[in-house]
Amino acid sequence: MPERASGAAGPLGLFGGTFDPVHYGHLRLAEEAIAHLGLTGVRWIPAGHPPHRGTPQVTAEQRLAMVLRSTAENPRFSVDPAEVEASAPSYTVHTLTRLRSELGAQRPLVLLVGADAFAGLASWHRWRDLFALAHIAVSHRPGFPVETASLPHELATEFGDRRTTDTAVLAAAPAGQIVTFAMTQLAISATQIRKLLANGLSARYLLPDAVLDYIQDHSLYRNS
Ligand code: ATP
Repeated sequence: MPERASGAAGPLGLFGGTFDPVHYGHLRLAEEAIAHLGLTGVRWIPAGHPPHRGTPQVTAEQRLAMVLRSTAENPRFSVDPAEVEASAPSYTVHTLTRLRSELGAQRPLVLLVGADAFAGLASWHRWRDLFALAHIAVSHRPGFPVETASLPHELATEFGDRRTTDTAVLAAAPAGQIVTFAMTQLAISATQIRKLLANGLSARYLLPDAVLDYIQDHSLYRNS
């Protein structure tokens, strides 16, 4: 899918997730990452077969459709359907390797993760290899501290010296740094939205109306 962002050589944000469903916490993370980190755009990459969790309640195609609806009007957002279309598990290291060959060795790539996802990084497939492929930008998320002391031991000891709040490092190299950034704190989760909908309660204003309309039209996240 072609990049909708302009400025082809600047740092590009890559935002993977289950997006089950996509909500305003995700959208603000991507929007604020562009501003705080000087990104040319954000490529959203919905996971097809997430290796770290149980089977999502809706199909990968439906999660992709919701991401497409919520990002369509932002020219700096693009959506990469490759993980949804693949039959193999969605390991981030494979996705980054593919994007590296597509975008070239020099383009700064910035993997965007929330603090909760970053805390689990050391359990990801070939996680040490990620640093040769991309930078990692960690956003603050309510309830999940980002201090080094709260990181898994291997990550803190092996990669602690790569952490910085100086976002200029992202444009200066293609990969290898860990940057933390503070975004507007939104205590919204897909889990909370799924629970509300399963109980017949309103999830309005936690996610875009276009996504809620899609959920209603397809009778998703209902208990029965
Ligand atoms: P679930 O509740 O099903 O675990 P989630 O709301 O955490 O889902 P994911 O699709 O798992 O959403 O998250 C994708 C990425 O977005 C992760 O890196 C996660 O840390 C980040 N993220 C999700 N919600 C927020 C939020 N409210 N604030 C900051 N980051 C968030």
